[in-house]
Amino acid sequence: MSTIFGRIIEGKLPCKKVFENERILAIEDIHPAAPVHILIMPKKEIRDLQSLKGDDLHLIGEIVAVAQKLAVQLGIEDGYRLLTNNGPGAGQSVLHLHFHLLGGRSMGNLG
Ligand code: 5GP
Repeated sequence: MSTIFGRIIEGKLPCKKVFENERILAIEDIHPAAPVHILIMPKKEIRDLQSLKGDDLHLIGEIVAVAQKLAVQLGIEDGYRLLTNNGPGAGQSVLHLHFHLLGGRSMGNLG
């Protein structure tokens, strides 16, 4: 696996893990943009949302379920944002599909 997240998934780089199963890993973002900032990603190497297809689409449902569970655990279930940046044009800097779970402060409008 060639990205930073790939190396984290392989255990070659450290992370603060908050959830893991066979298919999904959730970690704390190294540069949090909110009091709660978790990255939820499939372990399978998928570049971005646009590349996701067919048999892998179920991963989105799993990621949403993990986000819901973590939101309750972290006390942000009444106000959080779950988003992915698709491609460098949208600000994606790590080319391994991941969703940001953000909360713990007023989020405002999307810019
Ligand atoms: P993107 O810009 O691709 O949507 O989001 C990438 C996110 O990964 C950023 O919020 C950035 O802070 C985070 N990030 C980059 N490198 C690392 C790392 O090595 N460890 C962790 N935990 N987060 C990282």
